[in-house]
Amino acid sequence: MEAKKIRSTFIEFFQSKQHHYVPSSPIVVKNDPTLMFTNAGMNQFKDAFLGNEIAKYSRVVNSQKCLRVSGKHNDLEEVGVDTYHHTMFEMLGNWSFGDYFKEEAISWAWELLTEVFKLPKDRLYVSVFEGDKDDNLLMDTEAFDFWKKIIPEDRIIMGSKKDNFWEMGDTGPCGPCSEIHIDLRPDSERQEVAGKDLVNNDHEQVIEIWNLVFMQFNRLADGSLKELPAKHVDTGMGFERLVRAIQQKSSNYDTDLFSPFLAALEKKSGKVYGNDKQIDIAFRVIVDHIRAISFTISDGQLPSNNKAGYVIRRILRRAVRYGYTFLGFHEPFLYSLTPLIAENFGDIFPEVRQQQEFISKVIYEEEASFLRTLDNGLKILDQIKGELKGKNETIISGRTAFELYDTFGFPLDLTSLIARENGLSLDEKGFAIEMEKQKTRSRAASESETGDWILVHEDSGVEFVGYDFLESYSQIIKYRVITDKKGDKYQIVLNKTPFYAESGGQVGDTGWLVSEKEKIRVIDTKKENDLIVHFVEKLPEQPEVRFSAEVDREKRAYSMNNHTATHLLQSALKQVLGDHIQQRGSFVNEDLLRFDFSHFGKVTDEEIVTIEEIVNTKIRENIPLNEQRNVPIEEAKKMGATALFGEKYGDFVRVITFDPNYSVELCGGTHVPYTSQIGLFKIVSEGSSASGVRRIEAITAKAAEGYLREQENLVKEIQNLLKNPKDLKKAVEALINERNDLKKEIESLHQEKAGAVKGDLLNQFVAGEGINTLIAKVKLPNADSLKKLAYELKNEVNNAFVILAANIDEKPQIAVIIDEPLVQSKKLNAGQIVRDLAKEIKGGGGGQPFFATAGGKDLSGLESVVNKAKELYL
Ligand code: ATP
Ligand code: MG
Repeated sequence: MEAKKIRSTFIEFFQSKQHHYVPSSPIVVKNDPTLMFTNAGMNQFKDAFLGNEIAKYSRVVNSQKCLRVSGKHNDLEEVGVDTYHHTMFEMLGNWSFGDYFKEEAISWAWELLTEVFKLPKDRLYVSVFEGDKDDNLLMDTEAFDFWKKIIPEDRIIMGSKKDNFWEMGDTGPCGPCSEIHIDLRPDSERQEVAGKDLVNNDHEQVIEIWNLVFMQFNRLADGSLKELPAKHVDTGMGFERLVRAIQQKSSNYDTDLFSPFLAALEKKSGKVYGNDKQIDIAFRVIVDHIRAISFTISDGQLPSNNKAGYVIRRILRRAVRYGYTFLGFHEPFLYSLTPLIAENFGDIFPEVRQQQEFISKVIYEEEASFLRTLDNGLKILDQIKGELKGKNETIISGRTAFELYDTFGFPLDLTSLIARENGLSLDEKGFAIEMEKQKTRSRAASESETGDWILVHEDSGVEFVGYDFLESYSQIIKYRVITDKKGDKYQIVLNKTPFYAESGGQVGDTGWLVSEKEKIRVIDTKKENDLIVHFVEKLPEQPEVRFSAEVDREKRAYSMNNHTATHLLQSALKQVLGDHIQQRGSFVNEDLLRFDFSHFGKVTDEEIVTIEEIVNTKIRENIPLNEQRNVPIEEAKKMGATALFGEKYGDFVRVITFDPNYSVELCGGTHVPYTSQIGLFKIVSEGSSASGVRRIEAITAKAAEGYLREQENLVKEIQNLLKNPKDLKKAVEALINERNDLKKEIESLHQEKAGAVKGDLLNQFVAGEGINTLIAKVKLPNADSLKKLAYELKNEVNNAFVILAANIDEKPQIAVIIDEPLVQSKKLNAGQIVRDLAKEIKGGGGGQPFFATAGGKDLSGLESVVNKAKELYL
């Protein structure tokens, strides 16, 4: 069965059991401080498990793009080395939200694997949670009993908390789980050692394929467990592993999910997969990583210098480095695999097809720049080698290796490889110590402790009223304290709030919570999943009373101007630059707007002017806002609404229109009622923000007015400096012309002077046997004129040997020039002579045998230069 068919069979199987198909959420997580990337199918349903939100469907089936390269689940170092862990993989899942529980989950999983996919029963094992004393948990006898009905007892394995109690992170939903493992070894091996003994033992052929998690608890910050309000099922099956089991391969990479990529790579590298351990690892690393990189870029996360972007950059570099070291790729190559990504995954994940060209260009640029880094690193290593040799040492210190790693992205194994090739060794322990030091430093900087929510009023959901009101009467549902290095942070959740939480690029509202006795400043508002969290300066003394929640109106108004202007800008960009413009990030606050978009090449000054004109025309047209809430997503798409890649949209969306023929966007932000409120739009900068991405910064309203006034003042000041000429531009031009004329005049004066000096010097040559020597002290305006003078003297006198000790702007210089034939016949070397004489002026220099110069520090030494030279050469 082909991979595509396997995926659709899984989905259809659960659809036939009344499950609703939900598309994968983006791989890059927004609005969750505990998570950078989606690492399991359950992430997008976290709020439903926690009871913060009511699940829309009680039964769901999906295939989720996951990435396990950071945080609690990090498989990066395994990937490529083994054959069944990937960085990015698909997790197939079926879900019950307060609906069915263990019995159905177990029997359906068994039915699907053995009856639909026809996996041999005698190769399957299951595990059940054995209980845990510390957590006061008993064995999961329920799961055990259900399994016993369908599988012989000796195929059921008891598992510890480590393997059979699933937790998303340090806190959050969790519960006992039951895993299904498959033994894919050949029969001969199976007869020798029982598969049962190899389960959960890191055996490449005895692997876990499916994990059925029974969500029953919430892990609190103090480590204790609390029963969840309702019980849920969360299952996750590694799609790539399932495909391998069904296609009876001994490695995930031999399935049709990866084989086209391996084939392409074989062709490109001229190397063969399957013959050499190191080369094979490189192949696997590359075909794995290209998926992770492409999928994250298509979900809006570009490689960069920090956080999630840096994780992606590291994955990309790992692939490039393996290609560089083991497959001989010294030019960008990864990008050439992106068409295959589009071809193989574009059906189920259309975003990788739609953005293929962009993904390819971004990867190309990253590769090219990392390869340059590698080259630089190699040069630095060369230097280090030289230094070590000088000191007669053979060990590259841990600190040096770490510096190479940290500053130049130069991986340890590459350093060590090159060291070995050069008969050097590397202090790996020292490197590990440096690495640990850095980790401790960054851990200490980011460590924080999140307290549990303290309930004040019953949690009956959170209502956002901030599209219509800037004030509301509200009650505090819960609050908590987060402690980190910088001190305590206080968070409050209200039952009803007019505060807009930071999202879609727009900053969170600030304002006040006011009760009869207290006035508490709200310093920021952010989302945590779907919760609206208010950051306050201090906790209220009486949290249970009613508060008036009041948004800072001025800040909100200016942010709204900038947000609407961003929409107007995006449409103008499309008009002027073309339809390929895709939003790649935006930031809007009360001061400015910043808009990142895919575009190759600079936006020209003329284009900027046109864009500004379009936006300002739209502002003057005074277009009214048309805000539609709860539009079915399909309908919104039909309206031509611009949606963002990597954004998680529900079934119903909010559509913001300013003239249906001009700007229609899916957006949750706040906007002006009429465009004229924006007043004025002014772009203040345009530049590159990442490879393939441009950034425009602009201002509106009062800020734009202030900016123009500043420019005007600048002109006025210049005018004043120039004594208020009638035509400012002409006056500046005249100034420049005058300056150029003066420069020329000075130049010709210099020349005149030099000519006089030269005339003098021509008379001072001393004739010798086949050689005419001149040794003299001169005063000259610059180093160029010294060189020019030396050459002229040589050209005008036969067999010239000239030593000039020059005072150049009160600094000593020496020039030595020798007619070329004399270099041989008289064994004279200008370089040596100048170096010797330079000692008199406390300096040094050099050059060619026929011409050399030196500079020094001691002007008074010029006299001794002349004397010494006369002694030696006259
Ligand atoms: P393993 O012990 O093999 O690392 P896990 O216990 O980390 O697996 P879960 O967190 O239970 O796995 O995830 C559910 C399923 O996802 C697993 O049964 C497996 O099939 C799959 N899976 C987990 N990690 C990876 C990975 N890095 N690459 C591919 N598939 C994976
Ligand atoms: Mg794992």
